[in-house]
Amino acid sequence: MIVLKIGGDILEEGLNPTLVADIKELAKVEQLVIVHGGGDEVTETAEKLGKPQKFIVSPSGIRSRYTDKETVMIYSMVMAGKINKETVAFLLSKGVPAFGLSGVDGTLLRAERKKRLIVADERGRKRIIDGGFTGKIDQVNTDAVQLLVKKGYVPVVAPIALGKEFELLNVDSDRAAANIAGALGAEKIVFLTDVPGVLVNKRLTRKLSATEAEEIRPKIGPGMDKKVLASTEAIKMGVKEAIIAPGNVKNPVTQAINHRSGTVITP
Ligand code: ADP
Ligand code: MG
Repeated sequence: MIVLKIGGDILEEGLNPTLVADIKELAKVEQLVIVHGGGDEVTETAEKLGKPQKFIVSPSGIRSRYTDKETVMIYSMVMAGKINKETVAFLLSKGVPAFGLSGVDGTLLRAERKKRLIVADERGRKRIIDGGFTGKIDQVNTDAVQLLVKKGYVPVVAPIALGKEFELLNVDSDRAAANIAGALGAEKIVFLTDVPGVLVNKRLTRKLSATEAEEIRPKIGPGMDKKVLASTEAIKMGVKEAIIAPGNVKNPVTQAINHRSGTVITP
């Protein structure tokens, strides 16, 4: 079983035909579950709706969307609506038996709403603000996903979670993918993005242990730092290998799982 996270930038460039052809071939021999991102498109749509987005930075340096009630509605519309359905439609058009769902469906992802958030301002001073509608995933129910996979479908998951009071929550797509991979007992998780992998001092790192990955994470810039964090989380949950790889090359998934591209993170 392989969990494949496809980044928003790769999706926005239009799912490239070689990626889809690769997914189609792989799906014949491997069980595949796809998780997608799309944060930039959420931001664009929100702006068009007259709701400019705010971003906050946690004390550990992770940047995330500040998700109030209106924002979580727009987030859900774009993620589980447009992006999920367009991705599924495109995969179907190329012969991939895709089936779209979100983390809400069948209680795939349950999360605890963050009641309060600690944010750091530019000078690093900490402030406490209302948590809004973001959550930390604490329960994963993969029954429905497994049912789909058993029937030969390729599930395509939008990163939304269900809170304790059945409210919709924004969850980070990389960490959603990591949690799903962990709960499925997946062998590998592949993060496809728009860069060649993890760059350290502008050079591509080909291999990292989970410990090394944790050590260098503070030196990694926004976006990639979440993938490094999600990779180490997946490994802690028993996934044998996390690969952060470019999605804009020929046969990107096959290249990544054969270690011909990207950064491979292992226990
Ligand atoms: P996606 O949208 O594909 O899921 P993100 O945009 O969230 O991915 O994260 C990938 C981005 O992280 C890259 O496009 C790059 O600009 C940025 N980045 C920051 N620091 C690094 C780094 N050290 N190595 C590679 N990419 C980095
Ligand atoms: Mg991006």
